[in-house]
Amino acid sequence: MTKDPARPVFRFAPSPNGELHLGHAFSALTTARAARDCGGRFLLRIEDIDLVRSRPRFEQAIYDDLAWLGLAWEEPVRRQSEHFADYRAALARLEGRGLVYPCFASRSQIAAACTAAGVADCACDPDGAPLYPGLWRGASRDAIEEKMAEGAPYALRLDMAKALAAMSDRGGKISFVEKIHQPCGEIAADPARWGDVVIARKDVPASYHLAVTADDALQGVTHVTRGADLFEATHVHRLLQELLELPVPVYAHHRLILDEGGRKLSKSARDTSLRSLREDGVSAAEIRRRLGF
Ligand code: GLU
Repeated sequence: MTKDPARPVFRFAPSPNGELHLGHAFSALTTARAARDCGGRFLLRIEDIDLVRSRPRFEQAIYDDLAWLGLAWEEPVRRQSEHFADYRAALARLEGRGLVYPCFASRSQIAAACTAAGVADCACDPDGAPLYPGLWRGASRDAIEEKMAEGAPYALRLDMAKALAAMSDRGGKISFVEKIHQPCGEIAADPARWGDVVIARKDVPASYHLAVTADDALQGVTHVTRGADLFEATHVHRLLQELLELPVPVYAHHRLILDEGGRKLSKSARDTSLRSLREDGVSAAEIRRRLGF
C-alpha cells in the first residue's frame, strides 16, 4: 500500500476493553468498503488510553476478529497508549491559550453539585449525562496550588465559554460535512451543549475527545466513518480541530446494529460477540451477509 498523499484515508478505531460484536463488524466493514470504493487507505487504530479497562487479550482479539472477517489494514497499527507525548503537546497548546483548567472534583462531588443546583433533570449533555456545573472553573490560584501541593488528582477541562470566545475572530461559526446521519450535508457545530468537557482524564494526559482529534490529524485521516452514537461528539471534535488548527475530515456516522429488543449491542453480551459467534460455528461469510456485505 502506498502512502500517496492524494489517497483518502479511513480508519477503524476500536477500544480494547471488551470483545468486538456485530456492531463493530458492521463499522469495520462499512469503513473498509468506503475506503476500497474510492481507492483509499484503511487504517486500524487501537484506542487504549483507558489503561484500567484496556487488555492485551482484547487487543489481540481485535486483530483476530478483523482478520477472520477478511479485513486487511496497514501496519504499523497506531496504539494510543504509545503516543501520550502527542496528546501532551496538544494539551500544552490549549493550556498556553488559557483554555483549560484543572478540576479536582470527584464524580460524586459533581453529581451532588448538580443535584443541589437542581440541574440534574434539565441540563444534560448530548449523551444524557448531567452537565458539569463548573465547580473548578474560575478557581483561585491559591485553591489550585493548595490541591496540587496535596497531590490531589485532577482532570483538565476545556473552558467552553473561553474556547468559543477564542473563535470569535473567525466569526465563531464552525461546521462539518456529514454524509450519512440525518440531517446530512453541512452541519453547524454546536459544541456548547457539551459544557466544559474533559480534555485530560485524571490518570492520563488525554481524553477520548483529545486523542481522537489529535490522531485523526496526525494520521492524515480524511474520512471518519463511525457509529451514529458518536455523531454528537463530532461537535466537540470540530471545536478542538479549530483550536488546534487541524485539518477537518469528512464525517459519516452509520446506523447502529441493535439487539432484538432494539438496544445498542454491549461488549459484555456474549451472544453477539464475534468470537462466540465464530466458536458457535458461524462463518465470516454468514456474518458479512447478515450485515449486508
Ligand atoms: N474508540 C471508539 C469506540 O470504540 C471509537 C472512536 C471513533 O471512531 O471516533 O467506541
